[in-house]
Amino acid sequence: MNLANISQSCVKCAKCVPSCTIYQINRDEVNSPRGFVDLLGIYDKGKISLDKNLKDIFESCFLCTTCTTLCPQKIDTANMIIKSRIDIANKFGISWYKKAYFYLLKHRKLMDFVFSFAAFGAPCAFKKNDDKLRSRFSLSKFGKRTIFPFAKKSFINKHSNLKKPKNNGNKKVAVFIGCLSNYNYTQVGESLLKILSKLEIDAFIPKQECCGAPAYFTGDIKSVNYLVKKNIALFEGFFDEIDALIIPEATCAAMIMVDWKHSLELESNNKEWIARLERLLPKIHIATEYLYNHTNLIQKLKNKSNQKITYHDPCHAKKVLGIFKEPRELLNNIYDIVEMKECDRCCGFGGVTIQSQKYHLAYNAGIVKAQNIKESGAEIVSAECSACRMQLNNALDNANVNISFKHPLELISEGL
Ligand code: SF4
Ligand code: SF4
Repeated sequence: MNLANISQSCVKCAKCVPSCTIYQINRDEVNSPRGFVDLLGIYDKGKISLDKNLKDIFESCFLCTTCTTLCPQKIDTANMIIKSRIDIANKFGISWYKKAYFYLLKHRKLMDFVFSFAAFGAPCAFKKNDDKLRSRFSLSKFGKRTIFPFAKKSFINKHSNLKKPKNNGNKKVAVFIGCLSNYNYTQVGESLLKILSKLEIDAFIPKQECCGAPAYFTGDIKSVNYLVKKNIALFEGFFDEIDALIIPEATCAAMIMVDWKHSLELESNNKEWIARLERLLPKIHIATEYLYNHTNLIQKLKNKSNQKITYHDPCHAKKVLGIFKEPRELLNNIYDIVEMKECDRCCGFGGVTIQSQKYHLAYNAGIVKAQNIKESGAEIVSAECSACRMQLNNALDNANVNISFKHPLELISEGL
């Protein structure tokens, strides 16, 4: 990727600036897509060096991709920022706690052990409230906040008895669950299994690794491609026997369907792996899109409830994959959907670096979102993304807004 050439194609129209997540909460044009693109071009030409100030600027992008959807030149600023994050990781190294986290992502058994241990220890450090944990203590890096709960047994381990479906004429799908739904919000996968069972679709939970998104957003490209290649090899072992691989998480779906290729392209000599990935992609779907377009679920959704739902569009679903109609069409059959102001405004999750080193940015972006949710008058907010769930639960608590979160699959399974 030639950052200098891409930067030259920017016509400085500023269409990307007003809706940029970081610019909306920090009105300095240096921290805006137009500013990033200009700086990345100058940096690539060698006219400025990567010092701590530049690192700080490039790490303030939320990677929400809002700018790309608005840019007449289709400049992919987020992808350019990823390139700079790789350089940052190479020059400054990766913090010890991120390294430890990425190590766990690459070692599933150890991660299973650590998370089940966390499930037992969590009550000492957190107060529980529905599907949220509020920390009792404030850690300097992480602040005092609402986070995810921990499941005693991961979703994958709980359902490892579901073997590859037999050839009985039914549709057959594999589920890629994602780490947050595997260890924290396990009700998402349970709801999906219930829906598939009602549709008489056979499901199984294959061996799988993390999609690599947390490492990708941090520039740890070696860890990402290790996970990408391991997953591709695992998928190839069962792909001929299934109709689809479905993913109930926007970030994992966008990572697999779009960013795995970007990540492989960032390493040389990966043409063979890219070809192997491209053979798999036609069968990979985000869950609501699959259920809406490839099953008769919508005909089974008839029990209308009076509950008012508002739907937040995860950036990775709407802006990267173009999915926003499908979850609404499904939910609309059973609930009253009331649209919030700026439903596709980024929730402000931003990834590991924003959540740990720049939490004030996530906090400020979240407060605006929480206010929009409150003003909608809804009783429940929904989004097909557990990273959004974690961020929105925290933002709603910070803004003292008493509205709960449910994944669309939970709402659909309750309404069936
Ligand atoms: S990806 Fe989002 S935060 Fe980053 S420059 Fe684009 S709009 Fe701004
Ligand atoms: S919208 Fe695109 S062309 Fe216009 S200023 Fe932003 S990056 Fe440049």
